[in-house]
Amino acid sequence: MAGEVLYTRVAADLKEAAEKHAEVRGLTLTAGVAELLGIGLEAVQNERSIRSLTDRVTNLENELAKERLQRERAEQRYRALQDAGTSLGERAERNVGKCSRCGEDLAGADLLVRGGCSNCGEPVSLIPAGSGLNERELLLLAGALGVAVGMLISRK
Ligand SMILES: [Zn+2]
Repeated sequence: MAGEVLYTRVAADLKEAAEKHAEVRGLTLTAGVAELLGIGLEAVQNERSIRSLTDRVTNLENELAKERLQRERAEQRYRALQDAGTSLGERAERNVGKCSRCGEDLAGADLLVRGGCSNCGEPVSLIPAGSGLNERELLLLAGALGVAVGMLISRK
């Protein structure tokens, strides 16, 4: 095999090991050394590409962990908002008092959504003095509404 000549000095034990390698493989010393050199170069290149792939995998794992955390936070916010919405819906249905004009029951939604009696349309304001409205229910309803609005505002 014609090729380039590479002069190099190596330690005695390295030369001995190369000779042994060539002998075991049934090669000349030149062919044995060329084979070892080729294997060594390939190993170095593979090591570099493995390191590069390892770095890439580490970066992707970090990105994935970040995305997972963001998704978990978004899901927590969503669940809290859902709970607040459910609570608000339940409270909006509750009886909070009676209409001062027609005497029909007033629900939380009559006060906070419609702003008046759903039967006669009489305007209703929050806790007018002596109205007989259930103050505790109104406060719970307003609290649930506050939580729902707060969740919507802090969604970012
Ligand atoms: Zn009414």
